Parts: sequence; structure tokens; C-alpha cells
Amino acid sequence: NLLPYQFVGEVVRGFGRGGKELGCPTANMDGTVVNGLPEGLPVGVYFGTAKLDGKSYKMAMSIGWNPQYQNEKKTVELHLIDYSGSDFYGKTLSAVIIGFIREMKSFESLDELKSAIAMDIKVARRGSVEQGKL
Ligand code: ADP
Ligand code: MG
Repeated sequence: NLLPYQFVGEVVRGFGRGGKELGCPTANMDGTVVNGLPEGLPVGVYFGTAKLDGKSYKMAMSIGWNPQYQNEKKTVELHLIDYSGSDFYGKTLSAVIIGFIREMKSFESLDELKSAIAMDIKVARRGSVEQGKL
């Protein structure tokens, strides 16, 4: 299987789209990380761990296609759970993708999207999809 998968990369600027406004900032990874992903790894939401400044966090992340580039550009975005410091653009993150949570989908409303994200973070905290299903 393709997981666990480890990567190291730099945090770049995204479009500030959604992220912080949804209460879920996502650290976007540089192109080397995006292009280095195993070919067979499907787009979707994943959980794992990430290390920033020597400290480890659980994380939920998405691999997806960015609508700002007519969906031609893949993005890898990580939300570090329980990180509450200042922005860390330009810093290096090392991470391990542990498991798959769900496929990407579009939501009918902002509320639906928000509760999906809340569920993703719950699963990522527990570190297992099975337990997250309740
Ligand atoms: P962008 O579109 O530039 O990625 P976001 O709204 O997604 O903007 O915010 C992401 C940025 O917020 C990260 O690059 C990072 O510097 C900062 N940040 C603050 N807290 C977190 C967190 N818990 N997880 C991820 N990024 C965070
Ligand atoms: Mg982001």
C-alpha cells in the first residue's frame, strides 16, 4: 500500500480562500511535495502527523484540485490540530500521511462543509477512520 507516506516541504501562500474564515487554516505545501506524491494516491481528505519547529501535531489534510487554476493545479493543504501560534509561511514542515478519511466532495451549504471539516478533525484526532465513524 501507499500509506504511510512521509514528506518534507515548505509552507507556501494559498489564496486565503476559506481556510481561516472557516476556522480551519490550511498550510499549503510547495510544488515539490505536490508533484512528489505517489501517483496512485487519490484526491481526498487524510489524517496523519506533522512536525513544525520540532513540535509534533496531529493533522488533517486534503489533496485536491485548486479551482483558482481551473482545477489544473493540485494542492496539498494541512490543518495542524491544536496549533495556535502565529503564521508560519516559509517554514519547513515534515509530515506523515497515515490514513484516508474521505473523498473530496462539494457541499450544498457552508454549514455542511463546516460539519464535514469538524468530523474530519475528530477522525484525525483519534487517528483512525473506524473509530471516527461511531
Ligand atoms: P492560505 O490560503 O495562504 O493557505 P489559510 O487561510 O489556509 O491561507 O491559512 C493558512 C496559514 O495559516 C498557514 O500557512 C499558516 O501559516 C497559518 N496557520 C495558523 N494556524 C494554523 C493551523 N492550525 N494549521 C495550519 N496552518 C495554520
Ligand atoms: Mg491554506
